Amino acid sequence: MIEVTDLQREFKSGEEVIQVLKHVQLSISTGEFVAIMGPSGSGKSTLLQLLGGLDTPTKGEVRMNDIALHELSEKERTLFRRRNIGFIFQNYQLLPMLTVAENIAFPLDADNVPQVEIKSRVNRLLKAVDLEGKGDMFPSVLSGGQQQRIAIARALSNQPRLILGDEPTGNLDRKTGTTILNLLSKMHREEKQTIVMVTHDIFAAGYADRVIMLKDGKIEAEIEREEANKDELMASFLAELNA
Ligand code: ADP
Ligand code: MG
Repeated sequence: MIEVTDLQREFKSGEEVIQVLKHVQLSISTGEFVAIMGPSGSGKSTLLQLLGGLDTPTKGEVRMNDIALHELSEKERTLFRRRNIGFIFQNYQLLPMLTVAENIAFPLDADNVPQVEIKSRVNRLLKAVDLEGKGDMFPSVLSGGQQQRIAIARALSNQPRLILGDEPTGNLDRKTGTTILNLLSKMHREEKQTIVMVTHDIFAAGYADRVIMLKDGKIEAEIEREEANKDELMASFLAELNA
C-alpha cells in the first residue's frame, strides 16, 4: 500500500542544512498496524508528515497505491489526503467553535458529501467511538480521552484507507490511552484499517503488528509481532536508542 524509497528530508536553518531523514526505505501493507518509535528529534513526525503528503521530500518518494505523492500538485494532494488519509494528533486539533458533530462532519462538508449522508455517518461514528448523545456539545467541555475519540471519529469520517497518528495517546493517562488504543486496535481488526502510529510508549507500540525504530533519521531496526521475544527486543532497542 505504501512504498517509501530512499526518502530524504533536509531543513535549512540559516547557512546550516539539517538532514532529518536519511535514505529511509519502508513498505507498509494494506491492513497493517505499524508503530514508529525513537528518541525525540529522530524524525518520527517528519516521516509521518511525508507519509501523509503534508510535506514533500527533499529526495526520494512516498507512493501510496502506486501514486507518487510528490508528483501531485498542491491541490491534487489536498484532495488525495482528504479522500484517503485520516490524521490523529497528540493535541487532538479539534475546532473549538464547532460542536462535536460539526467537527466530525468537517472533512465531509469540505468534500461536498450530501447533508443526509453526513448526518447518518456522524451518528454511526459517534456510536463507534462511544459518544452517542454528545454531538451537540462543544469539545472544550469534554475530557481529553473524549476529545481524542472525536478526533478519531473525524479521522474516520471520510472512510480513509490509511490512519496516521502522531502520539495519539501522548497527552492521556494510561487508562484513557488504553481506551484509545483498544479503539484503534478494533478498527484494525474488524475493518482491516491500515494504521501508522508514532509513539514513544512501549505499551502503545505493543498493539502494533510491527515496530519500526528510528534513530537520527534512519531506521535502526524493525520488530515483528511474531518475534518470540518482541518485548525484550523492544526494551533493549529503546534503551540503546535513548542512551
Ligand atoms: P520527532 O517527531 O522524532 O521528535 P521531528 O520529526 O519532529 O522529530 O524532528 C526531527 C528534527 O527535524 C528535529 O531536529 C527538528 O528540529 C527538525 N525539524 C522538524 N521540522 C522542521 C522544520 N519545519 N524546520 C526545521 N527543522 C525542522
Ligand atoms: Mg514528533
